[in-house]
Amino acid sequence: LASLEVQPFPTILEFPTGKTGGGHVMVAAGPCGVESREQTLRAARYVKKHGAGMLRGGAFKPRTSPYAFQGLGVEGLRILAEARRETGLPVVTEVLSPEQVELVAEYADALQIGARNAQNFPLLQAVGEAKKPVLLKRGMSMTLEEFLMSAEYILSRGNMQVILVERGIRTFEKATRFTLDVSAVPVLKSWTHLPVWVDPSHPAGRRDWVIPLALAGLAAGADGLIVETHPEPEKALSDAAQQLHEEEFAELMAKVRRLAEALGRTL
Ligand code: PEP
Ligand code: MN
Repeated sequence: LASLEVQPFPTILEFPTGKTGGGHVMVAAGPCGVESREQTLRAARYVKKHGAGMLRGGAFKPRTSPYAFQGLGVEGLRILAEARRETGLPVVTEVLSPEQVELVAEYADALQIGARNAQNFPLLQAVGEAKKPVLLKRGMSMTLEEFLMSAEYILSRGNMQVILVERGIRTFEKATRFTLDVSAVPVLKSWTHLPVWVDPSHPAGRRDWVIPLALAGLAAGADGLIVETHPEPEKALSDAAQQLHEEEFAELMAKVRRLAEALGRTL
C-alpha cells in the first residue's frame, strides 16, 4: 500500500498550520520531553514564532535506563493540549503501547512511534485503527524494506496517514550518536508516496551538528523535519546535549526557509 506503483502520486497530509508531502515542507519542534507546564508553553510559543507547524514533546518517554526520567504521563498530555489551545499548533507525542493509543489519541493531533517500537507489531496495528496521522520512526537497526513493512502494518489497518521518519541508524561510527542515513530519503521517495521526514537531533546527539544534518535531509528531498529544542537545554531531563537553544532554533528555521525556497518547496 505504501508503494508508488499502488499510488503514483504523493500523499499530502494537511494540518491547520500547513501541509507535508508533494512539495510542502513542515517542521515539528519542541522539547524531547514534557517536563513542566512552563517549559513546554515557553517552547511552544517560540517554535510557533519562528515558523514551526507542529509542536513535539514526549509525555511517555521510552528511556534506555528504567531509572531515567520516564515522562509526566497523562499530566504531560494535558500540558501539550494546553500548549495547542494557546498557540494553535497541532501536537505530536509518542505512544508506547497498544493500550495507550486511545488515551494519547484523545490529546494528540499525531501519534509518534519511536525507534525502539518500530517493529512492535501490535502497537503498529493499534495506531492503524486510530484516526490520527502517525509519525513512524525508523528502528535503529532496520533496513528500509523492513521500515516500509512496519508502515504496511499501519496502512493495512486502514490508516493511510503515515509519515516515515529517518532518525539515524547504528553503524560502526561512534563520533555521532547515530548515523543519519541521508540516502534513506531519496531511496524511500523513489519507492513510496508517503511523506518522508528527517530527525536531525537524535543522530547528531550534539546541538552544533543539528543544523547541518537538518539541511542535508531537506536538500535530499525530505518533506519535513522533527527537531528537539528546549528553553533551557542544559537543564533538560533527557537528551540535554542535542536540544537547540531558542536562538539556534531561529537560525535553523531561517536556513530551512532559504533552502526550501531555493528548492521550490513551500514551508
Ligand atoms: C524522541 O523523539 O524523543 C525519541 C525518543 O526518538 P527515537 O524514538 O527516534 O529515539
Ligand atoms: Mn529525544
